[in-house]
Amino acid sequence: MNNLKVVIDAGHGGTDSGAVSSNGIKEKDLTLEISKYMYNQFRNKGIDATLIRSSDETISPNERVQRILNAYGDNPNVIIISNHINASGSSTAEGAEIIYALRNNDKLAKNILQALGNEGQVMRKFYQRRLPSNTSKDYYFIHRDTGGSTQPVIVEYGFIDNPIDLAKIQNNYKKYVDAVVNAVITTANGETVEPKMEKNYYIVKSGDSLWGISKKYNTTVDELKRLNNLTSNILNIGQILVLPTTENIEANTYIVKSGDSLWGISKKYNTTVDELKRLNNLTSNILNIGQTLKIPTIENANTYIVKSGDSLWGIARKNNTTVDELKRLNNLTSNVLNIGQALKLP
Ligand SMILES: [Zn+2]
Repeated sequence: MNNLKVVIDAGHGGTDSGAVSSNGIKEKDLTLEISKYMYNQFRNKGIDATLIRSSDETISPNERVQRILNAYGDNPNVIIISNHINASGSSTAEGAEIIYALRNNDKLAKNILQALGNEGQVMRKFYQRRLPSNTSKDYYFIHRDTGGSTQPVIVEYGFIDNPIDLAKIQNNYKKYVDAVVNAVITTANGETVEPKMEKNYYIVKSGDSLWGISKKYNTTVDELKRLNNLTSNILNIGQILVLPTTENIEANTYIVKSGDSLWGISKKYNTTVDELKRLNNLTSNILNIGQTLKIPTIENANTYIVKSGDSLWGIARKNNTTVDELKRLNNLTSNVLNIGQALKLP
């Protein structure tokens, strides 16, 4: 959609606290923090955005609707994000819900929920809610009274009365907001937020081995076993294996494997223990299996940083050398490369 305009509504405010947690955290304060961050993120991306309240202010439903419609009018390019934290009256409900208007299709709601799911929040549901006394109308005024063309969604990030959900929101709200912002832009571009996890699964085929799969996805047998809680190397056809996320195999990161030491890793990446500790804010030399370490990447004429899909053979060809020469130069005992690894070139 061209000319995307975003109205950000921090739910509740002032005398209306919204839901309150058992330890006194108020929904109105969380939604304000979330909304302010969201506003900045849209503006940083050059997208027009308006924040309905930027302080702890009491706003009547009528006033709220007025402010929303005054922002960019009643137009189809206007997306209204009303930020809320849910409550269920029990401490066990968890996850995000997105509620969209009867006049809209489900694309925006679906994309936002998927984006939150991709960031690790439980995806409860996306839905429309009708007014019991007049089922042709929306239940919530934020849908019902905000014109006939705008696209309003209520985003419930999780449950304030579930301590686990509350902690998740408090610790991850920036990640969640970034996900929502990206989902809004993705939807405006007519695209779909794809489930992140699906891409990170591999279905075992006849003839597969953990070793072969690990090579294919630039990981190790140990890492695959750890990710999948495997106690043996036996695979079954049709078995679904979780693969390391792209985050984990991103260039410039290394995932600590069984038997690794800082010294060994520093040698492998042509760096030093001190540099690794500095980069990763480590205060001791203790590593945990599965830990992600940042790796320095100083690429110069004589080093090559391994990228996804690289092989020693390919790198050797490209640099007019041989696999054996590369292995000798880099003290490699096998042909396995890690993304982000720095190789000395002749
Ligand atoms: Zn609320």
